[in-house]
Amino acid sequence: MNRIANPRTTARRRASLPASPHLPPEWKLRRRGGVVVLESLPLARIPWLVHGFSTRVGGASLRDGERMLNLGYVEWDDRAHVAENRQKFARALGAGAMQWTGMRQFHSSTVRILRRDSSPPTPCRGDAMATRAHGLLLAVQTADCVPILLADVRKRIVAAIHAGWRGTAARIAQKTVGDLRMRFGTRSADLVAAIGPSIRGCCYEVGPDVAHEFGSQFAEAHQWFDGPFASLSTGDEPTPFLWLQFDPPGHDRPKRVNLDLAAANRWQLEAAGVPSGRIYSCGLCTSCHADWLFSYRREGQRTGRLVGAIGIR
Ligand SMILES: [Zn+2]
Repeated sequence: MNRIANPRTTARRRASLPASPHLPPEWKLRRRGGVVVLESLPLARIPWLVHGFSTRVGGASLRDGERMLNLGYVEWDDRAHVAENRQKFARALGAGAMQWTGMRQFHSSTVRILRRDSSPPTPCRGDAMATRAHGLLLAVQTADCVPILLADVRKRIVAAIHAGWRGTAARIAQKTVGDLRMRFGTRSADLVAAIGPSIRGCCYEVGPDVAHEFGSQFAEAHQWFDGPFASLSTGDEPTPFLWLQFDPPGHDRPKRVNLDLAAANRWQLEAAGVPSGRIYSCGLCTSCHADWLFSYRREGQRTGRLVGAIGIR
């Protein structure tokens, strides 16, 4: 009946939200049912699909006086709160009746193909999932790692990927597209990809072991690093393990480089044939936006988990 918002209530509600981060035009934060969900508009326009990336805003979890939407079973949180948060998040996506489908993620390049009837009661181990089945909400958990959602708009297939540095070095994004091609006959040109919030080059400082791993795997790796990548990755410096021990007091700190994992994953999607104009990255850094997101780098064990989720209605 009363369609005019009460300005006092609206002001109070808005006041509880941190200032909105800057987003590219294809992205939108939507508040629904007390939680705030990040949507990629090109995926939101597909009628048979549900998707979204969570933020920490809202939710039942309580830490240091802050209510938050933690979606992972972490040590400090109550399991009942996590279950309630998952329901809230799924409802906000319009996926309240769908089956929450997670994995025991282990920083691998393992891709799981899920059928409706094979969807296991206990999560399987893996770091990417794909399905053509209706009713499954594929949910990957992150707290700095890169969440990637894929949709084959012609064949109606969806996938969700968790890519930390190890998974990225193991080419999990490329491998997932390859598995879609092999298992479902997906054409890469029919894929739309959304890259959600992750730690970015501004904040993700890594050591020579990571630089070395990427340098040995990718000729293009230098494009994703800031800092003395060449000397760290090629072995001009002593080997990582020896060299880490050579840090006596008073000497320079070990050299570090900054890695942009999202850029490395974008490159992999393009290398797998996904058109660059159909890869949408939200650009948000989890560590820079700790008021909206969870960052393991920033908060350590006390952080929560974000979720990127996608499914077929
Ligand atoms: Zn940052």
